[in-house]
Amino acid sequence: MDNPKENRTFDHFPAESQCPICGDGEDGACVLVGIQGTQSDGNIEAVPVHLSCLANPKRYLYNRNVNVIYVVCSDVKRGD
Ligand SMILES: [Zn+2]
Repeated sequence: MDNPKENRTFDHFPAESQCPICGDGEDGACVLVGIQGTQSDGNIEAVPVHLSCLANPKRYLYNRNVNVIYVVCSDVKRGD
């Protein structure tokens, strides 16, 4: 999963997709983020996320117990 040569960033947001952080599908640069629990045979399901949303430090929280930094997503209901 952690292949630094793998390019998972794109200049445009896919049509009819919704960013889990802002709940919007506005066009812009995005990155595919793997969905926990969907790994299988070296593949993983992923969702597009705006790079601008990932760049907002106000949404980050650090959980000391599990040593994970996570992003608080929008309350907007996702279409999945
Ligand atoms: Zn977004």
